[in-house]
This record gives sequence, structure tokens and C-alpha cells, in this order.
Amino acid sequence: ADLAVTSAKQQGRNTWHWYQGDIQRVTEDMVLLRHDLHTALHDDQFELFYQPIVEAVSGRLRGLEALIRWRHPKKGMIAPGMFIPLAEQTGQIIPLGRWVLRRACRDAAIMCRAGRRDLPVAVNISSLQFRRSGFLADVQSALDDAGLPPELLELEITESVLLNGAESAIELIEALKGMGVRVALDDFGTGFSSLSYLRDLPIHKVKLDRAFIHDITTSRNNAAIVQGIITMAHHLGLLVVAEGIEEQAQQQDLDRRQCDLLQGFYFARPMPREAVMQLPDRLPASA
Ligand code: C2E
Ligand code: MG
Ligand code: MG
Ligand code: MG
Repeated sequence: ADLAVTSAKQQGRNTWHWYQGDIQRVTEDMVLLRHDLHTALHDDQFELFYQPIVEAVSGRLRGLEALIRWRHPKKGMIAPGMFIPLAEQTGQIIPLGRWVLRRACRDAAIMCRAGRRDLPVAVNISSLQFRRSGFLADVQSALDDAGLPPELLELEITESVLLNGAESAIELIEALKGMGVRVALDDFGTGFSSLSYLRDLPIHKVKLDRAFIHDITTSRNNAAIVQGIITMAHHLGLLVVAEGIEEQAQQQDLDRRQCDLLQGFYFARPMPREAVMQLPDRLPASA
């Protein structure tokens, strides 16, 4: 019995040490990454990947979402979840976000001229970036410099843009609309989502978060929420996109629920601009 207790204690202690070490390592990683972030933009280490968005009923290619990647010289490809929050903490998100906007507009114009017409590109906008004065001017100059029609740019914001008051956010979205740029509400259903946002914000599209989609064929509760949001969004004149489609059953389910557009690994993963040019008109290619 003594032995068992000792070994359990030891095990417990080891677990603690391992855990502590792990946290320390993660924190050190973050400090190093934060440091590297300062030179990454200047050293041209960021890339944009594009993920197809398709029509639910047909699988026809209807748009792209630009997703940033960091090609770190030592660590390889780093996903945005690892560094966007850091960039937001340091303020680096402002120049980085501007770079994303300009690069996405440039790529969209290149794809358009190369024959991929009518394919709007959606760009994720951090709330800090959105609410900063000068944002509208940044959008306009990105469009102008790329020679991109504003209808081919879409901005994805989240409800966190509303944290410091809804009125100024509404004004900004109206101004973008006036420029011809459309706005989508991303990750809807997570965080502090309120149904009244769908009513009050002059957006044209709502993106249902992946969290509701992954078990839509097995969770009646999530299916009910998704159906409710789709129906209501349609009554409000909004398009609905579902994110994170990984299986055919999810596509079929969402199509049956009248969801307009779908995005997910089932159709295609995010890819470089050059690969977008090779895509067939309908996805997935095998179906
Ligand atoms: P998001 O805007 O909701 O983008 C969708 C995320 O879901 C992407 O992750 C995409 O790769 C992933 N995804 C798409 N389909 C599937 C699927 O079928 N299964 C699974 N498991 N995942 C799928 P990613 O590229 O890692 O981006 C994560 C988040 O980082 C984005 O979420 C967005 O909030 C942020 N982000 C990405 N690029 C930018 C950017 O340029 N600027 C800003 N401010 N944020 C960005
Ligand atoms: Mg997005
Ligand atoms: Mg999203
Ligand atoms: Mg998301």
C-alpha cells in the first residue's frame, strides 16, 4: 500500500513538473514569436492562402476567403491562431492588416484578369483595424492601387467590432456599402452573438461558425439553431455561409436547410493563388 501511495505521489509530482515545464515552454515560444513578428513583415514572411466558398446546391465556385500564413524561417508554416492575437496585443495588426488588404486586392485583380471573374475575395478584418480612423481610406487605396472593382472585395468582421458601441460600427459598414464593398459577419453563433446584430448591422452575409456545423447531422439542438439562424437571416435579406464542411452528409443537410454557401475541407483547403487558378468550376472535383 505504501508503495502505491508513493508512486501515485511521484506520478502526481511528475505530472505537475511536466505541466509546469510545458506552460513555460509555450510562454517562451510566445515571447520569441512576438519578437520575430517585428521583422516578419519587413522580411516578407507572410503569405495569403485562399479557400474556396461554393454554392450549396451545386458546388459551384462562388468566392474565396483570404487566410494569412506565416512562413517562419525556423519554425515553418505558422497558422494565424498562433500570431494574430499577438499582433493584436502589440499593435502590429495595423500594418499587418493593411498588408493583407492590399495583397488580397492585388491577388483578386490578378485572378480576375486571368479569367477567374466574379469571384469575390473575403478578407478578415481585426476589430482594432476596423475601428481605427483611416481604415476606410486604407480600403479605398487598396482597391484603387489594385484596380479591383469594389464588388469583388468583401470584409469579414466579428461581433467584437460592436464592443465599443454599435453606432459607429453601423456607420462604418454603411460607408463601406456606399463604396460598393460588402461586409459579412464572421463566426456567428459564438461569443456574444445577438440576433439583433443581424437586424441592426447593414451586412449582406452571415457566416455560421464551424462549432455548429461539425455535429449538425447528429445534434438536433445544433441543427435547430442553424435552421433558425438560416430562416431568420433569409427573412432579413441576408445570405448564409456555413463554415467547416468536412463531409458530404453536412453538405446535404445544409443544402436541405436552404443554406446558400458552404466552405470547408470537404470542398477544398486553403491554397495559394496559383492553385485557385487550376480549380474546376464545381467542387469537390471527385463528386
Ligand atoms: P475564420 O475567419 O473563421 O477562418 C476559417 C478558418 O477555418 C480557417 O482557419 C480555415 O482554414 C478553417 N477551416 C476551413 N474549413 C475547415 C474545415 O472544414 N475544418 C476545419 N477544422 N477547419 C476549417 P485559419 O486559416 O487557421 O484561420 C483561423 C482564424 O484566423 C480565422 O478564422 C480568422 O479569424 C483569423 N485570420 C486568418 N487570416 C486572417 C487575416 O488575414 N487577418 C485577420 N485579422 N485574421 C485572420
Ligand atoms: Mg473569416
Ligand atoms: Mg469564421
Ligand atoms: Mg473562426
